[in-house]
Amino acid sequence: MTAPLIDPFARAITYLRVSVTDRCDFRCVYCMSEDMTFLPKKELLTLEELDRMCSTFIGMGVRKLRITGGEPLVRRDIMTFFQAMTRHLDTGALQELTLTTNGSQLERFADALYAAGVRRVNVSLDTLNDDKFAAITRWGRLPQVLRGVDAAQKAGLRIKINAVALKGFNEDELPKITEWCAERDMDLTWIEVMPMGDIGNENRLGQYWSLDDVRATYEQGYTVTDLAERSGGPARYVQLEETGQKIGFITPLSHNFCESCNRVRMTCTGELFMCLGQEDNASLRDVLRANPDTEEPLRDAIRAAIERKPKGHDFDYSRQRLDGQMSRHMSHTGG
Ligand code: SAM
Ligand code: SF4
Repeated sequence: MTAPLIDPFARAITYLRVSVTDRCDFRCVYCMSEDMTFLPKKELLTLEELDRMCSTFIGMGVRKLRITGGEPLVRRDIMTFFQAMTRHLDTGALQELTLTTNGSQLERFADALYAAGVRRVNVSLDTLNDDKFAAITRWGRLPQVLRGVDAAQKAGLRIKINAVALKGFNEDELPKITEWCAERDMDLTWIEVMPMGDIGNENRLGQYWSLDDVRATYEQGYTVTDLAERSGGPARYVQLEETGQKIGFITPLSHNFCESCNRVRMTCTGELFMCLGQEDNASLRDVLRANPDTEEPLRDAIRAAIERKPKGHDFDYSRQRLDGQMSRHMSHTGG
């Protein structure tokens, strides 16, 4: 164990999100274009390199590891990587190993994930209507995801549903999605749609739906109480008194959460992004590949990158004007 990672604003970096692939079996309209060009395989970190990378971060104080993508569960042999991370849970160095998934492969992998030490999974699901699901994901099919959710709960995994809030798309489903989550004892978080990537507007199925408006919709049917709880990330929580449910709101654009930011993100090619809203990144892959027998240069490169972690992002959603609009896709940095 070396000295922990502390950035210039005294924030301890304890949370690493890692994208393990840029590929996906869905083509959600707000995330990807239909004809995506994916990276050549050799650009990607191998599973062994992902292990070295994550293990180095864990040695430097990362306590929580979230695996994402693209769709993490479509990466070939990804379970080998999850199983390799179990050793860090066993020693207590890692407190939580988790993933964000579209759920399409959960039926196959739920038991193996539980066995590897995963206890919580975020499943992204924007609608409970078959046709709307097929439209928003283009290639996805709802029944397959619902079977995945069933399998995950049966395996003992706790599920949080992440729904992107889209005006004119899932606005009318708010009560239904909320009740479905309550019945199944799943947490629910609404995500404000972010201007990510150059994916055009022609396929816009829904539009920006401010989470203040989502909250106001809840207030029409429930007693809504704010919770003080924060996770170091962009989520805020409320409780619905009638159901006891906790509902999260992720508003990366319209609220400032940067002062408590404890996280960094790594792409599947080993670029470390210190802030979701900034382009600055450090390429760790070359350092890793140039030094197969020692982790010291990699640790130095990580420390140098963390020294550059900015105080905050540049998004400004005021008056619907999008300053700081991002050109990279969420599937690249891993949402
Ligand atoms: N494929 C996995 C999934 O869908 O859960 C993991 C990767 S996906 C990029 C992570 C999250 O980013 C998903 O919850 C997805 O809904 C969200 N996301 C993608 N594009 C987004 C956008 N433009 N605005 C807000 N959330 C977005
Ligand atoms: Fe794939 Fe997730 Fe992006 Fe949808 S949001 S296209 S499931 S990576």
